[in-house]
Amino acid sequence: MDTRRQRGNKRSNKGGTKSGEPVGPSPESIKREKEKGKSLKSSVWWRLQLEKGVCHYCAKTFEKKDLTMDHIVPLSRGGKSTKGNLVVACEPCNSDKKYYTAAELILKNQMNSKIDF
Ligand SMILES: [Zn+2]
Repeated sequence: MDTRRQRGNKRSNKGGTKSGEPVGPSPESIKREKEKGKSLKSSVWWRLQLEKGVCHYCAKTFEKKDLTMDHIVPLSRGGKSTKGNLVVACEPCNSDKKYYTAAELILKNQMNSKIDF
């Protein structure tokens, strides 16, 4: 007879983590990072970024009002609201990101021409 030890599997509902689920940021941690981003917006560091007025993606200069905060690695992909992951982006570039990833945008910018993906 097979005598496999069963380790109290009755107490399996701590935290309710289901196995087999894709590992990604929880809605709670995304919310937390969003809040962090919001508070960074009022920081001196962020004001300096806006002061420079240079879009991270197209490297053009803009008015403060035309610039937005952008996550290089989106929060939904595990990105954090840290200074290293937050950049100034103009509105056209920010909306462009719906179609291109940051890497593709940089590539597009470097080649200074339109790339069809
Ligand atoms: Zn731009």
